[in-house]
Amino acid sequence: MSKKIFVTDTILRDAHQSLLATRMRTEDMLPICDKLDKVGYWSLEVWGGATFDACVRFLKEDPWERLRKLRAALPNTRLQMLLRGQNLLGYRHYSDDVVKAFVAKAAVNGIDVFRIFDAMNDVRNLRVAIEAVKAAGKHAQGTIAYTTSPVHTIDAFVAQAKQMEAMGCDSVAIKDMAGLLTPFATGELVKALKAEQSLPVFVHSHDTAGLAAMCQLKAIENGADHIDTAISSFAWGTSHPGTESMVAALKGSEFDTGLSLELLQEIGLYFYAVRKKYHQFESEFTAVDTRVQVNQVPGGMISNLANQLKEQGALNRMNEVLAEIPRVREDLGFPPLVTPTSQIVGTQAFFNVLAGERYKTITNEVKLYLQGGYGKAPGVVDEKLRRQAIGSEEVIDVRPADLLKPEMTKLRNDIGALAKSEEDVLTYAMFPDIGRKFLEEREAGTLTPEVLLPIPEAGAVASASGEGVPTEFVIDVHGETYRVDITGVGVKAEGKRHFYLSIDGMPEEVVFEPLNEFVGGGSSKRKQASAPGHVSTTMPGNIVDVLVKEGDTVKAGQPVLITEAMKMETEVQAAIAGKVTAIHVAKGDRVNPGEILIEIEG
Ligand code: MN
Repeated sequence: MSKKIFVTDTILRDAHQSLLATRMRTEDMLPICDKLDKVGYWSLEVWGGATFDACVRFLKEDPWERLRKLRAALPNTRLQMLLRGQNLLGYRHYSDDVVKAFVAKAAVNGIDVFRIFDAMNDVRNLRVAIEAVKAAGKHAQGTIAYTTSPVHTIDAFVAQAKQMEAMGCDSVAIKDMAGLLTPFATGELVKALKAEQSLPVFVHSHDTAGLAAMCQLKAIENGADHIDTAISSFAWGTSHPGTESMVAALKGSEFDTGLSLELLQEIGLYFYAVRKKYHQFESEFTAVDTRVQVNQVPGGMISNLANQLKEQGALNRMNEVLAEIPRVREDLGFPPLVTPTSQIVGTQAFFNVLAGERYKTITNEVKLYLQGGYGKAPGVVDEKLRRQAIGSEEVIDVRPADLLKPEMTKLRNDIGALAKSEEDVLTYAMFPDIGRKFLEEREAGTLTPEVLLPIPEAGAVASASGEGVPTEFVIDVHGETYRVDITGVGVKAEGKRHFYLSIDGMPEEVVFEPLNEFVGGGSSKRKQASAPGHVSTTMPGNIVDVLVKEGDTVKAGQPVLITEAMKMETEVQAAIAGKVTAIHVAKGDRVNPGEILIEIEG
């Protein structure tokens, strides 16, 4: 008996998302598509929330244009995307008309296979997306977001798979985003799935704990039909088992994939060179890290969390945050950690660590979660925390999108003439702020992709400007390496001199001056808070909204600002009752911890 195993390569989506903060550009994908198309993969994963986000936010590429180019360059291979159920590619639930419009456009532009998951494994949040995929005549894959907890039993996962089968799915995927699967647990789960439902079983497992290849082998022995791999130069660690390795492992056995190792070698070498181009996005958190079996944080999230912590100057708190994450997860009833719950739990854990007191600050997303706004929690949530977070507000138990009115008309009106197509409206719908900015910059002809640093020669440290002064150097801070370029020096005035730098490609302005009350990064001139009436934040972030104006009277505990950090929003409250005498921020401002943002006189 022989049974061919089908392979999906994640090189164009999850592999670079897990290893390079999702930065691979279309220009580095297209030259190899001819070879990729000849391999005979069952599918290539090419699209998802993070790739879409990175295109619009950093690369200044139209993600729909990328999809059309890949479609044209890969005529013989199924293109696959990852869809967050009712969240689509965003961080909130969309109304059903947006879900239908998005799926229809993704299908028209080239997606054949939709892997659809819900962060809570609440299948009510999958139904409309599955129906839309079937209406477009495409492959709907129902997904189990794999996690471990007292409530995540094999019976529970099998029951979920049967529900997805009944909803019309064409296949079922075990999505082990964090690398939590162990070989024997995988074997048992796959065996149960094959015995109790009839859909083909796909196994997507990250190698974070160094176990994924073993898990896939046990899955195959127990009847799994498909595996996800990554070409070897983008494999292992927080990515997936190497394609060439799995093909070689199965070669000549009853499970032979039939793929050519010679052709795969050429593709592996191509991407080996590509990876070097993106060296500035390599993180120290992408190697095998067995702690994932304790903290459950998925690879994509570790890589992004590390980048975000680095941006906020708080990378040294990483271990504390990783220890707090499972505690927050338990308080919330054991949600799997995958977008958006990974970000919700991760950011709340970060706040708990940074504030020195658990739940001193509770993000708006945690409040919404505790109200049932993301669906039903897998386990029991901490009732005391729920009451602390939402007071006497109602908890919903219906499908969250049942409470949403159609939104497409409003979205079309909001973005107006900046949208040249329905796809543009959907870009704006997925990412309102960066989507609008992208469309505005495109209109103005000012789209500027972030800078890729030259590939450093081994050991290279400094070069010299025309005047013999070093203008670029590499520094090490707590084991993190940064590349600093001096791009300009201001005239000395009032004892201060401005230096304009680029650190790992990010522009920075530094003011050298005698130590005084003007501190902090950026060009902020705000003073440091020193009185109870000085409203400040504990996190660097952006101002989403200012809720008061000068002259207003506020109560103690009244929300006065909404800030955004790490994609999560938080209310900042007045510490004392009194009158607002000064406001030093406006919507969109970047702020640093401890700065006086609003002054209140009691
Ligand atoms: Mn993944």
